[in-house]
Amino acid sequence: MLNWEDDTVQTPRPAPQTPAQPGTGAHQAGSMNAVNHGRVSAVDKRIINGQTDVNQLVPFKYKWAWEKYLATCANHWMPQEVNMQRDIELWKNPNGLTEDERRIVKRNLGFFVTADSLAANNIVLGTYRHITAPECRQFLLRQAFEEAIHTHAYQYIVESLGLDEAEVFNAYHEIKSIRDKDDFLIPFIDTLTDPNFKTGTPEADQQLLRSLIVFACIMEGIFFYVGFVQILSLGRQNKMTGAAEQYQYILRDESMHCNFGIDLINTIKLENPHLWNEEFKQSLIGLFQKAVDLEYAYAEDTMPRGVLGLNASMFKEYLRFICNRRMQQIGLEPLFAGATNPFPWMSEMIDLKKEKNFFETRVIEYQSGGALSWD
Ligand code: FE
Repeated sequence: MLNWEDDTVQTPRPAPQTPAQPGTGAHQAGSMNAVNHGRVSAVDKRIINGQTDVNQLVPFKYKWAWEKYLATCANHWMPQEVNMQRDIELWKNPNGLTEDERRIVKRNLGFFVTADSLAANNIVLGTYRHITAPECRQFLLRQAFEEAIHTHAYQYIVESLGLDEAEVFNAYHEIKSIRDKDDFLIPFIDTLTDPNFKTGTPEADQQLLRSLIVFACIMEGIFFYVGFVQILSLGRQNKMTGAAEQYQYILRDESMHCNFGIDLINTIKLENPHLWNEEFKQSLIGLFQKAVDLEYAYAEDTMPRGVLGLNASMFKEYLRFICNRRMQQIGLEPLFAGATNPFPWMSEMIDLKKEKNFFETRVIEYQSGGALSWD
């Protein structure tokens, strides 16, 4: 039934043979001197608090991370490859779009134009330091660049349409429904980016795990989805097709980020089962509930009336459906029994490779570099 994002690895992997050692701060930064100089054995690698050399990518232990890294590279794209001419003509035509449709575009850009920057900071200044598996670090490096491409894409759309840049880029301070989502996220990002934060105790490791869950399952897994559905709905009605095409690539990238994050979380759980206790699980449930409420408030704010055949109450059901899915993916009981997906077409949007571009604007196979076959 849930046929989207079903490439997430959820099969159990072997538990570590030795417990993780605390106090690995120097090693986490990537120092060559922090660990012994013997050859790396895959079995000794750990996602967090590892004692093996982070500079030695192989021998592989976390093959799923390497494969996701290769898959994201094969999906490479750049914003300026997408033609914005039709969007520009539609936007400048006074009768091209309704006020409600314009509101959706502007609110969307207001949220996303800073959201991917927050995501990039979280990876580069936070998460990366605390992950000791080089396969996962390799994916995070690629992910960080993709967050930069996404910020570039939003900037490219803002510039193409001639929007008020100061207004759009400051929306996360000025628009309450956007501000509230970011206020929810920022404490979890701050935990990881705090230079004094170190893993190695159960409390600190739980803090890290909680922040990873908020980032992958809530930020990338819930907070992006009202915006994605809205812009892709415009595209399905042949409006703002250049913007929609870019959002389609971004959705594909984000879906991969979310799946990687879920694999990362589940592997940390397997390697550190003592972290996943009842109290910890209970602390997560409230966060998922709050996230659905915040994203629904954002849906209502961006869509005060029905528009594009969408209305806010459809999003209530959709957010409950996605929230259930995210919770199940990390092994929590879903909060909203029986929620169904009112937008089944979204799963086709994620799987771009099936057919040519939905919007028929250009070729969309970005297989390049190592994925090319040479004659
Ligand atoms: Fe992302």
